[in-house]
Amino acid sequence: MKEKRSPSQLETLWKEKDLVNGKISDTLVMIMRTSGCCWAKTGGCTMCGYRQASISSITEDDLNRQIDQALSKYEGEPFVKIYTSGSFLDEKEIPISIRDRIFDEFSDCGRILVESRPEFVTNDVLSTLPRSLTIALGLESSNPDILRTSINKGFTEQDSKRAGMAIKDAGLTVRTYLLLKPLFITESKAIEDSVNSARFADPFSDEISVNPINVQRGTYVERMWKRGEFRSPWIWSLIEVLKQLSGTVNARLMSSPSGGGSQRGVHNCGICDRAALDAIEKFSFTQDPKDLEVTCECKDLWKRYMEAEELLGTATDLDRGFDNDLMIRK
Ligand code: SF4
Ligand SMILES: [Zn+2]
Repeated sequence: MKEKRSPSQLETLWKEKDLVNGKISDTLVMIMRTSGCCWAKTGGCTMCGYRQASISSITEDDLNRQIDQALSKYEGEPFVKIYTSGSFLDEKEIPISIRDRIFDEFSDCGRILVESRPEFVTNDVLSTLPRSLTIALGLESSNPDILRTSINKGFTEQDSKRAGMAIKDAGLTVRTYLLLKPLFITESKAIEDSVNSARFADPFSDEISVNPINVQRGTYVERMWKRGEFRSPWIWSLIEVLKQLSGTVNARLMSSPSGGGSQRGVHNCGICDRAALDAIEKFSFTQDPKDLEVTCECKDLWKRYMEAEELLGTATDLDRGFDNDLMIRK
């Protein structure tokens, strides 16, 4: 039976490292339970399973108790990330009183990061936010067809650009998320799309995080994946995107893949996955492309995989087509 989740408890909280003013720093990360993303309520993005972290009946009192819980674990980390599985700047999710309390409680913190859909980024709202704030924008792709057909994002790349420019003009910083390998496109097109999208985002982004798709439960992507019509990207593809962009954009490039090394997440042959993911983590801090040098026999397989996709004209899971055991190893 599914465990009953408390509306006054955070979804989860952990600590990690990230950069503050170019310095590797302790970071507190929390995912708040809120009433949920407004877009998810109308269907949402094809890869998003975040609606499962939402509870429609959540009250202000519940949100205050979640903040209390976060404060009980806070040890003065200079960076605090507050995710809501939606938009922090949507007042229906995070009422202004809660937003103000959060900024007040973490006012000594050097850097705070929240996420928002672009429609909630207005000059009026921006004028009330602390200068230490980074707003993460889920651009995903700069290709309007991919945004509409593969992701069902519900906004355009121009909406993200407007929001990003407004955030920068207000003196805050922007982290842009890109989605590596949305549905229906081949591995090589996915690489091309992320590279193009990063170039599009660079003028309004301080950081660009390339997020390879991770098959989340209860999503349209999961349905396609279960039918063998989707394969999560290879780690080689992620490395390729970072290599092509390295030294050609001003934004810091980064990636912290969820589900990396599993069949649902970005993965290679299984033998080199850990080393490849470690290399990406290192590069995210150093920005040195030498840190992306990884070798494994499966790199040739990845190249052949991409050639086969182009020859056959399909983005279906060719691994699965030839080896049904992979379904069992998920
Ligand atoms: S990916 Fe973001 S915008 Fe899309 S449904 Fe999920 S929370 Fe909402
Ligand atoms: Zn390998």
